[in-house]
Amino acid sequence: MTSAYTGEVFAMARTQFDRAADLIDMPFDQRERIFMPKRAVTVACPIHRDDGSVAVFQGYRVQHHLSLGPTKGGTRFAPSLDLGEVAALAVWMSWKCALAGLPYGGGKGGVCVDPRSLSPREFEALSRRYMQELIPFVSPQTDVLAPDMGTNEQVMAWFLDTYSVHHGSTVPEIVTGKPTACGGTLGRREATGRGVVFLVEQAMEDARLSLNGATAIIQGFGNVGSVAASELAARGVRITGVSDHSAAFFEPAGIDVSSLLEYVKCNGLLAGFPGAAPCDAEEMLIRPCDILIPAACERVINASNAHAIQCRILAEAANGPTTPDADDILRDRGEALTILPDVLCNAGGVIVSYFEWVQGLQRYFWTEKEVNRKLNEVMKTSYELVKSRAGARALSYRDAALSIGVERVLKARVVRGIFP
Ligand code: NAD
Repeated sequence: MTSAYTGEVFAMARTQFDRAADLIDMPFDQRERIFMPKRAVTVACPIHRDDGSVAVFQGYRVQHHLSLGPTKGGTRFAPSLDLGEVAALAVWMSWKCALAGLPYGGGKGGVCVDPRSLSPREFEALSRRYMQELIPFVSPQTDVLAPDMGTNEQVMAWFLDTYSVHHGSTVPEIVTGKPTACGGTLGRREATGRGVVFLVEQAMEDARLSLNGATAIIQGFGNVGSVAASELAARGVRITGVSDHSAAFFEPAGIDVSSLLEYVKCNGLLAGFPGAAPCDAEEMLIRPCDILIPAACERVINASNAHAIQCRILAEAANGPTTPDADDILRDRGEALTILPDVLCNAGGVIVSYFEWVQGLQRYFWTEKEVNRKLNEVMKTSYELVKSRAGARALSYRDAALSIGVERVLKARVVRGIFP
């Protein structure tokens, strides 16, 4: 089958899928059906710039499969975004949702734009126009949107408003990750970072390591990275390294997370933070630590640095941070290194998004305590499942997690058959 999807990130999703398909002996005539996205839409989004000129931005939305329910996934605003990257992220969402037992296929979308290049008015105009262009293709029953890199709760509120004005009444369940003031759930903003730290705790316990006094390095200090940093610090972990797109810092004695949060709140980025020594961003990733958390973009742990990574737990908060060749290098080193793969590790976001969607459909809201308890229950079940398959079949956690997710999608699609 010829494909509209190109690029290294999509190729990486394909390599991982082929491996999982081999592991579960998936018939070859099912493989294209299970892997290739069902639908993709590209939309041109024109807006007026503040100087009165018109600018057009390219947007995308990919719906990977619809066999278990609506597609579900984030919205990325990034300058290098392309269809292949969006499709890969949608595919990974499918395996992630299936592993967590959520009634969703994977979706993903976004706009090729550097959000930092937009004024606040332009940012709102582009967000609304993107949602407007997607209205014929999304609904609470077909495709539910959420935030991802470069978007946030506010963008979800604009999406909700744009969709609802078109619909004629308020439809909170068209998006998740929205503010609680307009139907969001308690605990969603923190869910991904909390889920990451919950799994790190489990993995440290299994490795007989104590969190209290351990060290962590975190790449990315946005929603996921900053919450993971706070949650770890609250458990006595020393955050020795931290970076974002603008700067990186390393401090063996530990960096004060509340000062970091305060600085980023005031300045919008880490550059210029006075409380730690600047360092090279690439080098930060290979400094020794107990816990390494990539929480930014794809392919940052690759063939050029995998041999030098020095951590005990690699917790993939980002999607696709480790390339398949880096995976091979890390495995061949034969050291005690636990990789918590993205489809397991960062699932907290979509799990609580699911809770938010359910609460929205029922117009009945839960306490934050209840949200967090249920989040931990689902994360724990998924972790035990992955551990058990990895142990029984001598697989890495990534192979175990992907093979469970892919197998569940395969089963659903086979039992439903092909229409007509
Ligand atoms: P965000 O936009 O809130 O933050 C992204 C952070 O990464 C920012 O601090 C940015 O400066 C930094 N960054 C960007 N490029 C970088 C680079 N080259 N080096 C270092 N830092 C860089 O995004 P987020 O929501 O925190 O998402 C981060 C990652 O987590 C993404 O891979 C996303 O797909 C994944 N994820 C997010 C969620 C969620 O609920 N938000 C859920 C699952 C997975």
